[in-house]
Amino acid sequence: MILSQLPRFHLSILAKSPSSSLSSPHFNLLNHRSNPPVSLAKTLFSFAPKSNLATVEPIPLPVSDSSDLDEAPVEISLDKLFIPPETDISGDDPSSLTARILKGSNIVLSKYARDAQVAQADYVKSSVRTEDCPADGLPEFALVGRSNVGKSSLLNSLVRRKRLALTSKKPGKTQCINHFRINDNWYLVDLPGYGYASAPHELKQDWNKFTKDYFLNRSTLVSVFLLVDASIPPKQIDLDYASWLGQNQVPMTMVFTKCDKRKKKKNGGKRPEENIKEFQDLIQGFFETTPPWIMTSSVTNQGRDEILLHMAQLRNYWLKH
Ligand code: GDP
Repeated sequence: MILSQLPRFHLSILAKSPSSSLSSPHFNLLNHRSNPPVSLAKTLFSFAPKSNLATVEPIPLPVSDSSDLDEAPVEISLDKLFIPPETDISGDDPSSLTARILKGSNIVLSKYARDAQVAQADYVKSSVRTEDCPADGLPEFALVGRSNVGKSSLLNSLVRRKRLALTSKKPGKTQCINHFRINDNWYLVDLPGYGYASAPHELKQDWNKFTKDYFLNRSTLVSVFLLVDASIPPKQIDLDYASWLGQNQVPMTMVFTKCDKRKKKKNGGKRPEENIKEFQDLIQGFFETTPPWIMTSSVTNQGRDEILLHMAQLRNYWLKH
């Protein structure tokens, strides 16, 4: 069981100051759309949790497998947590809340976090238009990110297959919407990488057009998983992508990759945690509420089980509503 494996970790919950109220912010499972298409309406949910934690001291949270215990803790405030719907944290003391937060993330576990194992993964098809995607109504999660962010590595790590994502890298498929069916009851979707330096401008525009169409019109899309390289400072193209998703209120989880790469001089000596915080500070204006985020490494498998649990809770909630 994942929770029993949680190491101590460098993140603290910061109590909100007494002047700010926890009862005012609304937490969404999926970002609220002001004018949601009918197809996405069933995925929407918002609520205002109450908490008795407003006056507690900061507490350590499970964030990473880091052994750099000399490093200063990263801090997180309660209003920056992602609290799924139908999840009540009002009865939690700080240590029981800590135990309910997925390691290396801001994500609180809900009662829907179950059936997270991947027993079977099969490549299904590559589509160039949203209309050509599988029509069986199964829920799906789309992985997207800058070229070289580690998308194929993460996909292979999630399904525990060394080469499954190679299918998406075959000639002719790199610009497609690639569907992989998991356990015969949901999909992982590999979208084209963006920002590839040598791609002609027009081609890049095309990718944008069809992936945007997919984001806006794919009725079975439960959440986009936007991959961002945590080993380097924030890049404008990733900020633009996150901003577009936020402004179009497309449900999004941020997946920070390469979190095993630490303290490289060429990166200005920044830790992944610092790059992650900077990224979040830069995008917070684009979102009504803090989106879920999670730290990963395909080298150490950090975040692998946690992503699957998060996908499971989003999926099970989506199926029920
Ligand atoms: P994609 O273009 O987004 O599919 O990226 P790939 O999965 O092909 O990875 C790009 C490069 O980053 C490869 O050299 C990988 O070995 C490396 N890489 C991917 N994930 C990680 C990671 O978690 N940690 C480290 N250190 N390197 C990674």
